[in-house]
Amino acid sequence: MQRTKVKDLLTGAEAGKEVLLKGWVRTKRGNKFVSFIAVNDGSTIHNLQVVADTEKFSEEVLKDVTTGAAIAVTGELVASQGKGQAYEIQASAIEVLGKADPETYPLQKKAHSLEFLREIAHLRFRTNTFGAVFRVRNSLAFAVHRFFNEKGFVYMHTPIVTASDAEGAGEMFRVTTLDLDNPPRTEEGKINFEEDFFGKATNLTVSGQLEGELAAMAFSDIYTFGPTFRAENSNTTRHLAEFWMIEPEMAFYNLKMNADLAEEFIKYIIRYALQNNREDIEFLGQRLVEEDKSKPQNERQEMTLLEKLEFVVNSSFERVTYTEAIDILLNSNHYKKKKFQYEVSWGVDLQSEHERYLVEKHFKKPVIVTDYPKDIKAFYMRVNDDGKTVAAMDILAPGIGEIVGGSQREERLDVLVERMKGVGIHEEDLWWYLDTRRFGGCPHAGFGLGFERMVQFVTGMGNIRDVIPFPRTPQNAEF
Ligand code: ATP
Ligand code: MN
Repeated sequence: MQRTKVKDLLTGAEAGKEVLLKGWVRTKRGNKFVSFIAVNDGSTIHNLQVVADTEKFSEEVLKDVTTGAAIAVTGELVASQGKGQAYEIQASAIEVLGKADPETYPLQKKAHSLEFLREIAHLRFRTNTFGAVFRVRNSLAFAVHRFFNEKGFVYMHTPIVTASDAEGAGEMFRVTTLDLDNPPRTEEGKINFEEDFFGKATNLTVSGQLEGELAAMAFSDIYTFGPTFRAENSNTTRHLAEFWMIEPEMAFYNLKMNADLAEEFIKYIIRYALQNNREDIEFLGQRLVEEDKSKPQNERQEMTLLEKLEFVVNSSFERVTYTEAIDILLNSNHYKKKKFQYEVSWGVDLQSEHERYLVEKHFKKPVIVTDYPKDIKAFYMRVNDDGKTVAAMDILAPGIGEIVGGSQREERLDVLVERMKGVGIHEEDLWWYLDTRRFGGCPHAGFGLGFERMVQFVTGMGNIRDVIPFPRTPQNAEF
């Protein structure tokens, strides 16, 4: 017999028929006459209830039907008399496929803390919360591809091992096959990377952008969606050492077109999740409501998760220049009361507290900040006519801060080379990148969306470690 997934069984399409269910036991309760077994197979947040009359099933079989065990159940799908579910299975046969010793199985019926669940990341998929989070993550990933595919963008796989440092900022993971105990040395005593696997020093990529630009100079519109790595030692709720990034790059786009695309894209993928994962999002929203009850009034959410997401897809993002943003901050009561920890003045980078003030207190919606001072932004961003700012844009989201970083790129060879000199990047190292400015260069733009920050936003999860299956952070790569 064909197995049917819980999600499909719950529609009742097979009511009155014999069905086969396979999944993992969430709970078992009951009395002398009957056992109620809640089974989940990951297809939905809901469990399917299995009713097993003790007349039919010996204690011998039922004793192994414990929380965490994998079972197969055959029986009739019937309308449920009990509360909480429309359909249930009246079991005629139960097979235990994999036992889970109740003495040692770490997931109990009681709610576990997210911190504890991080320590058993190999099992946390089996909780309601992580089931919901990773189904939403899956939908968002699918929506990313669908959005760009509908627009005729070409999906590019940019390299993971690279000899270039896109940001010129360091913080990369070295990739090497050299013997670390006894590396080959140059005459000056430095490590000789010419003898390394690739004949030069290589790292894990921090961004696919530079290679993405090369492809945009042929396909017009491309995007990447892959893992990126940053060895920054920042133990925050928004940083991972390994995260996934989506980086579209478009020929003939200016900064405004870039911002328009990013806004449309973000709304599209949120809308897709709202349509396809409503129950998961409702569940996650309820989690936040519960969490809020233990917080002081002024720290509670003003909107539920669903309301927040609906609001974001239906409102237009605020657009301000960096200069305007600094003015807003300087004129705020928050600033006057000296509540910002970090300095606010034209030329300094916006800190997370500033970004959150703009988004959560001042505008109360996502904000696109443009035209940052050139000294705090990457070398490839196009220098504006004022000579002081670049055509950069960051998109700031409530509760998260920066979710997108992008820019119009510097297409003028001389200006670009000058900027590279300024930050100490050698022309010879990026000769291939500069070639696009030599041969058929054109105005172009792109951005990077941190996928996990997006998943955080849609699921309302406070810590980025809880939206990637196996987080890599300083001192942590267990699973
Ligand atoms: P931040 O200031 O928050 O560290 P950034 O300026 O380093 O971000 P970019 O280099 O512009 O970020 O990267 C593009 C996007 O990638 C960011 O907008 C963010 O969404 C995401 N991102 C950057 N660093 C991380 C990280 N360590 N973990 C997860 N996502 C990240
Ligand atoms: Mn960073």
